[in-house]
Amino acid sequence: YTGKTGGQLLSEAVRKLMVQDYQSLPVVVDKNVSVYDAICTMFLEDVGTLFIVDHDSLLTGVVSRKDLLRASLGKQELTAVPVNIIMTRMPNITVCQREDSLYEVAKKLIEKQIDAMPVVKYTNRGAEVTGRITKTNITRAFVDLVNNEVL
Ligand code: ADP
Repeated sequence: YTGKTGGQLLSEAVRKLMVQDYQSLPVVVDKNVSVYDAICTMFLEDVGTLFIVDHDSLLTGVVSRKDLLRASLGKQELTAVPVNIIMTRMPNITVCQREDSLYEVAKKLIEKQIDAMPVVKYTNRGAEVTGRITKTNITRAFVDLVNNEVL
């Protein structure tokens, strides 16, 4: 018997949940695709956030549902506007790495008031997108915690 309280055991179990075990595949689009095509990709891939990459496949931006909705309210021709005009861009992108804990990611999602963040791998060229963590992944981990009775 460890003498740990239920709260301490729960906290330990939560901190052991890692990004690498719960991440999803990232959905990325090139920064030169149109807002129109970005909307189509978001529907076809059934995601709420797209990660925008440059010709080297390095992370350059993020586009959310509301970013696309806002762009659609304008009078511009959506097939003519490149998504990089409306995206949130580097270095203002909140990212995580596969060895981060899901708890740290959850805190960042709340703090920054965002739904998702890219999982990146840093190389000498920049940040490569390797995964995606959303509130859904966090919810799945929450359910797992109870189902697996890890305590
Ligand atoms: P929505 O805008 O559809 O409610 P979010 O809450 O995720 O979706 O996005 C809010 C704003 O934050 C958007 O302008 C979006 O571009 C930006 N954003 C989303 N994810 C990130 C991220 N990981 N890092 C920085 N900004 C982000």
